Amino acid sequence: MENFNSFNLSENLKKSLKGLRFTKPTEVQSKTISFAINKEDILASAETGSGKTAAYLIPLIQQVSTNSKVSGLVLTPTRELAQQVADVAKLLVGYRSGINISLLVGGASMTNQLNQLKKYPKIIIGTPGRINDHLSRKSLSLRYFNFLVLDEADRMLDMGFGEQVDKIVEHLPEQRQTLLFSATLPKEIIKLSKKYLNNPKRVEVKDNNVIKSQIKQKVVNTKTEQKYDELLDEITVRKGSILIFVRTKYATEKLKKRLTRDTVKSSALHGDLRQNKRNRILEDFRNQRFRILVATDIASRGLDVPHIGHVINYDLPQVPEDFIHRIGRTARAGSIGEAVSFVTPSDKKMWKSIEKLLDQLKNPDKQNRDQNRDQNRDQNRDQNRDQNRDQNRDQNRDQNRDQKPYRKRNRKNSKSRKYYQKTSK
Ligand code: AMP
Repeated sequence: MENFNSFNLSENLKKSLKGLRFTKPTEVQSKTISFAINKEDILASAETGSGKTAAYLIPLIQQVSTNSKVSGLVLTPTRELAQQVADVAKLLVGYRSGINISLLVGGASMTNQLNQLKKYPKIIIGTPGRINDHLSRKSLSLRYFNFLVLDEADRMLDMGFGEQVDKIVEHLPEQRQTLLFSATLPKEIIKLSKKYLNNPKRVEVKDNNVIKSQIKQKVVNTKTEQKYDELLDEITVRKGSILIFVRTKYATEKLKKRLTRDTVKSSALHGDLRQNKRNRILEDFRNQRFRILVATDIASRGLDVPHIGHVINYDLPQVPEDFIHRIGRTARAGSIGEAVSFVTPSDKKMWKSIEKLLDQLKNPDKQNRDQNRDQNRDQNRDQNRDQNRDQNRDQNRDQNRDQKPYRKRNRKNSKSRKYYQKTSK
């Protein structure tokens, strides 16, 4: 696919794409857009950084602007991601389109959101909790929202939003188009897709942007008590913005304080901060007012700050998949990035799992081979088990049959013995 022309997009969208300098669709965009414009449901496994936001926003905006009966709801797991999606949506819609977009996320002013809703937005982007708040206070009706996007669905489930999403879907019309995007496709997501999607087209992005060679990886084997000094060394030798991941909210604040004491300016980002503070910190980081952001995994997904040159895993994540999302914060849109990971002796097991995952993602063919091997092994095991069970059943039945006359004979004998005893008395 050379450019966006083959999709027959509205003039407005074409102009916006030009303004954004999106000249060629990314892989996930080429694969998704034509299906989605043709009103197909889609189950897409696309990594962060692949261009998935525009992959669903372009067909949504195209449909909304050409058909007055289409309205779209985009659900995201985090407020930050919702904000980012809303920003891209506004740029794609353009200023004079007359299409209202509403952002409904927790931690933000209710009054403002109620005012937005009075303008009958055609596109709503939000997080499950706040959308449900509006539904239960009846300030929002989703009766006509017939285009649903579930973005980062795996993360949504990880964060325990499954029930909230169920509740929201109950308010949507049954006749609708649904697009589900997920970085990974565990069985919970497949189950979810069966529940919400109707005969979906599968979109798979083979070219795994996140672990492309643009991300240079460095591993620092160290001890817990030496980690901080190693961190200072890494910060000193690196130029440009750095995102440091730690495990807990408390650890973000603690590390920020330590860095401040050593005259290194940084900010801490975590889920306990008020939403407007979170927004302000991100905006300052985006505008390069400070260079170092210390964050929990709240920043591991979706965050799109092109100038992050380095991701430092000061603490390893709790699940290997988060490592992929973390390092995907660097090397955005084709730039170069570096990832540094501190590995202490107690991290060895997690690091092994991460390496295994990286290896699988880099060698999808090998992964397929392994999967096939596992499938075959499971099939053989099941077949053998069934065969053994059948054989045992047959054997038992035959044995029982053989034993029956014997038992009967015995019973008969015993009766006759009794009879004999009786009569002989
Ligand atoms: P996403 O995966 O949606 O977070 O997008 C990752 C980055 O790719 C963002 O910075 C987008 O602005 C950028 N991007 C998305 N689509 C295109 C495109 N067709 N051409 C160039 N950059 C793009």
